[in-house]
Amino acid sequence: MEPSLSFETRQANLKSLAAESVDLLIIGGGITGAGIARDAAMRGISTALIDKADFGSGTSSISSRLVHGGLRYLEHHHWRLVFEASHERRVLLKIAPHLVWPRSFIFPIHEGCRVNRWTLAAGLWLYDLMAAFRNVRRHQMLGKRGIRRAEPLIRERGLKGGARYYDAQCDDARLTLANIRDAHRHGAKVANYAQAERLELADGMVRGAHVVDLVSGEEIPIRAHVVVNATGPWTDEVAGIDPPTTLHTTKGAHVLVPRSRIGNHEAVTMISPIDGRVLFAVPWGDFTYLGTTETESDGPPDDLRVTAEDVVYLLRTANAFFPEARLTPADVVATWAGVRPLLKAGNDPNAASREHRIWADDRGLLTIAGGKLTTYRKMAAQMADRVAARLHDIDGRPIPPRARTDRLALPGGETSALEILIAAAESEGLSHDTATHYVRMHGSETPAVIRLGQSNPQWARPVQDNLPTTWAQLIYAMRREMALTLSDLLVRRTHIFYEAPEHGIESVEEVADLAAQEMGWDENRRRAELGAYHELIRRNDAFRDDLDEGALA
Ligand SMILES: Cc1cc2nc3c(=O)[nH]c(=O)nc-3n(C[C@H](O)[C@H](O)[C@H](O)COP(=O)(O)OP(=O)(O)OC[C@H]3O[C@@H](n4cnc5c(N)ncnc54)[C@H](O)[C@@H]3O)c2cc1C
Repeated sequence: MEPSLSFETRQANLKSLAAESVDLLIIGGGITGAGIARDAAMRGISTALIDKADFGSGTSSISSRLVHGGLRYLEHHHWRLVFEASHERRVLLKIAPHLVWPRSFIFPIHEGCRVNRWTLAAGLWLYDLMAAFRNVRRHQMLGKRGIRRAEPLIRERGLKGGARYYDAQCDDARLTLANIRDAHRHGAKVANYAQAERLELADGMVRGAHVVDLVSGEEIPIRAHVVVNATGPWTDEVAGIDPPTTLHTTKGAHVLVPRSRIGNHEAVTMISPIDGRVLFAVPWGDFTYLGTTETESDGPPDDLRVTAEDVVYLLRTANAFFPEARLTPADVVATWAGVRPLLKAGNDPNAASREHRIWADDRGLLTIAGGKLTTYRKMAAQMADRVAARLHDIDGRPIPPRARTDRLALPGGETSALEILIAAAESEGLSHDTATHYVRMHGSETPAVIRLGQSNPQWARPVQDNLPTTWAQLIYAMRREMALTLSDLLVRRTHIFYEAPEHGIESVEEVADLAAQEMGWDENRRRAELGAYHELIRRNDAFRDDLDEGALA
């Protein structure tokens, strides 16, 4: 039986952390912190993890959702990064096959493109080599006809040919959550909406953090032998480095449009005719997302939104490749933007590295920054090594063996036979669409969600017509996935925010009623939650107010 991970577990975890010290406190529940918590807990290290908002709500749920070797890093000769990332792609496809799946990309080359067919062929051969020829499949070079056969709506004028190559796509928010849940299974005490306000020192060394429970307002001192700062864009703020010096942050934006408006079948790699950057058009169910931009960002990472300029750039690039689409801002159904927490490289203030780094400051605070979602597991293992060595130095305990995070499945990833899981779900009376949707989100844990629907037939219903997400999934999210707020439920545990017409506004009151009943919200909390969700929608749509008329004419 899967252990409960609910608002009650959270309260119990915070209570216990106030009373007893732990070996390791991780500040930050993005993919980096979540991966470290899983690895450390699997090694038997007593571990706590807190996040000031929801798990993954920082950068780790607003990525391009690609688990990729990083084809474009080859241009900059980042061999090691591509090699490592290609290896991690293989591992993640294996340990979380429901959350990380193969994705084919069509790379068209048009006249005047800065990449020609020969460089593309050489690059893709190298890309397969870096994966030791064990990528999902090997690339294929395609002629003009091959490209048009794959993607008939790609611009024919100037088309010279191109290629198909392979990478992987993921559900970034749920991948982060899967690591949190596995950490919890192995004994880690995790809590979202718990903010580290300041580090606690003893004899000049960091020995915990003063934490505020953002739900109850309670102040909680958490004591730990070792503290890890895994806060992505907030790295300097949490470490108390002022002015910030560690990161070079750039903003990345995405827009989601109905796939039928573009008509792409596979993902498409596009070199923007506007500025020569590499962009992607990636299928997401009935939608396609376009991204990403890369612009300088020195504003607070908590206050980001997609601007009219971002939208126009992304749509213009897509229209150059799919001229019949004639996308306009009215086609945009959702947007997301985040900050890349990249490390500064060398003395050039504008240079950034795609690598990660782990370091200890003179107070003993361990910080990890940089890297990418794809390589989180490897980064986490390196940090867990450092933590184990530090604990050994502190009290002489033996260093535990490394955890087999590359072999052991993440929750729901116990089998890669997804077709069998889908057939089993159908035999329980689920439609093919719902069965597929459940298996994509819950993998081998699908039967637990089905059982919830069977225990109360109301919960087996879809939350909204034409949407595969059911009430049972929302209940599951509250009982087993520590969903605490409406946006946890609608943005990250399910993706109603992205996939339902008008972000699911039609059912949001009913969802709030269910959450109030399940978690005992009073009327004030219920209203505050609805207000916060409406504000999220307003921010998502704010770019429309700044659009120049005829911006895409
Ligand atoms: C637009 C964009 C697209 C990307 N696309 C890809 C991609 O396709 N593939 C890929 O591999 N990588 C991609 N990346 C990179 C990847 O998303 C990031 O490297 C990764 O998500 C960083 O994770 P993190 O855990 O380090 O940071 P975050 O996910 O930002 O987590 C940090 C957490 O710390 C918490 N926190 C901050 N302060 C405190 C505090 N005081 N107390 C408690 N908690 C705190 C925050 O709430 C946050 O949840 C992309 C990045 C961006 C911005």
